Amino acid sequence: MQSARNRRVLDALALVFVLAVASGGWFYPAAGLALAVLMAVAVALSLLGRFGAARKRAFCNGVCPRGRALGFALRHFARGKPLPRAFTDLSLRRGLCGFMMFCVIGSLVRALPGLQGYPSLAAAGRIFWGLCVISLAGGLVLGVLFRPRAWCVVCPMGTLQDTIAGTGARRRMTGADAPGTADSRGTALEG
Ligand code: SF4
Repeated sequence: MQSARNRRVLDALALVFVLAVASGGWFYPAAGLALAVLMAVAVALSLLGRFGAARKRAFCNGVCPRGRALGFALRHFARGKPLPRAFTDLSLRRGLCGFMMFCVIGSLVRALPGLQGYPSLAAAGRIFWGLCVISLAGGLVLGVLFRPRAWCVVCPMGTLQDTIAGTGARRRMTGADAPGTADSRGTALEG
């Protein structure tokens, strides 16, 4: 169990990390590869969760810097309103997740130099950096309009984990927005 002080330090570090990748990627596109690494960790932990070797959503609860940073940065700015129920719809979340995967894979394929070889680190990093900035922008808007971690309800990476780990139930917002609570995605399973 993290003490409140340690949690705040980790929250602040997560915020610095997220801002560094989001701003640094403009100048050094390869910085976006940090998101690719995080996505790989999320998938690996979800697979472990599927077989009972890790907690469900272990990535969301203990690793993801974006969720932690949003909860920390927006805790005094969010309106505190519940997210509209339509956002919790499983089809919507899966559609968003599928669209993200389609865009990322399609962009990576298009970045292939010719028919052979692999996308350069910078080109691949630019793709993941774009994803990082778009999701951060979405997280800020939803976080201010509703609750700090409202983004976590629709987050494609969260949905991907739910799908892999077999926890893709419909969700609703609760007041549990702070990291380290029962469900740090700020959500609760309905069924
Ligand atoms: S739902 Fe998305 S943003 Fe929220 S903690 Fe999980 S991976 Fe991070």
